[in-house]
Amino acid sequence: NYNAVLVENRRLFNEVQELKGNIRVFCRIRPFLPGQKEKNSIVQYIGENGELVVANPSKQGKEGHRQFKFNKVFGPASTQVEVFSDIEPLIRSVLDGYNVCIFAYGQTGSGKTHTMTGPKESTKETWGVNYRALNDLFNISQSRKSSLTYEIGVQMVEIYNEQHTLGILTQSQPSGLAVPDASMHAVTSTADVMELMETGLRNRAVGATAMNERSSRSHSVVTIHVRGMDLKTSTSLHGNLHLVDLAGSERVDRSEVTGDRLREAQHINKSLSALGDVIFALAQKSPHVPYRNSKLTQLLQSSLGGHAKTLMFVQLNPDMNSFSESLSTLKFAERVSGIELGAARSSKEGRDVRELMEQVASLKDTISDKD
Ligand code: ADP
Ligand code: MG
Repeated sequence: NYNAVLVENRRLFNEVQELKGNIRVFCRIRPFLPGQKEKNSIVQYIGENGELVVANPSKQGKEGHRQFKFNKVFGPASTQVEVFSDIEPLIRSVLDGYNVCIFAYGQTGSGKTHTMTGPKESTKETWGVNYRALNDLFNISQSRKSSLTYEIGVQMVEIYNEQHTLGILTQSQPSGLAVPDASMHAVTSTADVMELMETGLRNRAVGATAMNERSSRSHSVVTIHVRGMDLKTSTSLHGNLHLVDLAGSERVDRSEVTGDRLREAQHINKSLSALGDVIFALAQKSPHVPYRNSKLTQLLQSSLGGHAKTLMFVQLNPDMNSFSESLSTLKFAERVSGIELGAARSSKEGRDVRELMEQVASLKDTISDKD
């Protein structure tokens, strides 16, 4: 019986590997904040191969148990360094001419900005993906200096109510990458860029509280343009890296909001589902990819699909008060990843998935002890 479990587990794992392709979905669970109680966690099990079991602790028994499978699950104790180490190869590939999009999806307060930017008073230790990526790109481009020269440009765009505003644009040399309507700044280091980003944010016409409020209702897109020139052959290559902190995915009760708030909610809904549809179509290798349904997917079209690589961070708040929101986040993620191994399988087999996976885990321990 144990053997059958192992075989089954391996089969599932292989199935997932085959489906992976150029689209990856990582789940990240943020830690409990002061005042939240850990016994209220919805997280039941995190597996090494991206398994996640959630349940509502306020419900009795096995009710509400759901199993998900992603490319990787980062638990609440995961650090910025660990998270980045798993995406570093993607960042490097931009310098080889690939287009890469990295998204953070989840309800407001689930840790999207923490993952992408890091905390407010960020130190190098707590830097998010954005700064680590830039730092890497600068460092690696420097180390290739003898054979390749790179130009690196940075652009920040905010998409609010399906309209986008150009924030700042920076680039390492004042020639080349032409993007209108934005001031140009030469940058050669991550520190330069951080300073500019902060200035850019400060210069926005809204106060800090309004900023936070609004940031949860707009998509923030940082685009890093890379152009490389091979000194020997004079051939050039281009790569783009898009780092996207999406608007909060929480559902808004239509009976309670009107006016601007309702319009915002509708725009967010539209663009997130358009994004979901695009990634789903790509994961299915569908001949038609519906890029045109939102500003966000139009803006990112050239970097989604083809040889481009897409990574989505699915952010979760582990508190049971957010259970239903978390479930809908997980279902969205499950759909876009094209990997659906959840409830259907577990209910069909009528087994407690958590028990099963714990068996597999302990079995693995036994086996590796023997090796
Ligand atoms: P979002 O951008 O999804 O609205 P935030 O990134 O602002 O969420 O996170 C909400 C709160 O949780 C913030 O106070 C943030 O500092 C904290 N937080 C989120 N993720 C982590 C983490 N991995 N470690 C420590 N604190 C975190
Ligand atoms: Mg945020």
